[in-house]
Amino acid sequence: MPCCTKCQKAESIYFRAYSGEYLCKKCFLRSIESKAARTISKYAMIEYGDKIAVGVSGGKDSLSLLYVLKMLFDQHSNNGNELVAVTIDEGIKGYRDESLQIVKDFCAQLGIESKVLSYQSLFGVDMDQAMIQRSSQKVSSCSICGTFRRRAIDIAAEAVGADIVATAHNMDDQLQTFMINLLAGDVERIGWIYPEPVQYTQSGMKKVKPFVEIYEYEIAFYALQRDIPFQSEECPYMNESIRTDLREFFNRLERDHPGIKYNGYKSMTKVSKVLRSSMPSSGIKKCSRCGHVSTGDICSVCKTLSIL
Ligand code: SF4
Ligand code: ZN
Repeated sequence: MPCCTKCQKAESIYFRAYSGEYLCKKCFLRSIESKAARTISKYAMIEYGDKIAVGVSGGKDSLSLLYVLKMLFDQHSNNGNELVAVTIDEGIKGYRDESLQIVKDFCAQLGIESKVLSYQSLFGVDMDQAMIQRSSQKVSSCSICGTFRRRAIDIAAEAVGADIVATAHNMDDQLQTFMINLLAGDVERIGWIYPEPVQYTQSGMKKVKPFVEIYEYEIAFYALQRDIPFQSEECPYMNESIRTDLREFFNRLERDHPGIKYNGYKSMTKVSKVLRSSMPSSGIKKCSRCGHVSTGDICSVCKTLSIL
């Protein structure tokens, strides 16, 4: 490989096709970390003294996010930020056990507190049971699971007294979510994708995604280069989601046209910003069944539970 385009000193280990740069290990790692730091400051995601609950699944993205935030906070220790890892056990046999151990060991290594909550303890049902009990195959595994996970992370974050929930959604995830909403006719939901955080719970908690401007495959390469251990096992229910098809579609496009995902992401951000500004800023309702914040009379968790 040729010499690093940035430092002109070391041999490169990575070719960034969309920018034409060759990067050495040090410059590659730094590019990811500074991109995350720039995204945090661009969208005012984290303030002095905030306690951040990081949703950690045990995959490459969430463990890398935990690592990067810990590193940034250590560099600015007088900012008084605190980290807690929250992990949700969906109850998927043979899949979740490996990752729970990886998260536990990694948090111990970084000296970060961790909290685990399960669907079973919160909703009285786990994913394996939900897959058998669902009354309609039209409701996909990931839509049930995602609905439960968002609520479970909120509950865990509130329990540890966090001000912010940070998740490791990357640029690819955002593009896929945009397309899913578009194809489902859910245009109103696109406003939620814009990266600037909104307060969304009774306690005023915010949600942030510091990796939102980073390609998925670059986070995977980052995890490998940093020797971050991550779960290799894939969820047995993942192929039900249209997300898998969209991921393959965008990866194919990016292979033939480097940078197309980033262009798509930039356009999507502009559209989501416009839609965010037309979202009602007040009028957050409470679910008539469970009392949690909801956009309708009945929240998505209660709706999901009613089909099981
Ligand atoms: Fe849940 Fe879908 Fe992720 Fe599996 S792939 S853990 S079902 S969201
Ligand atoms: Zn409810």
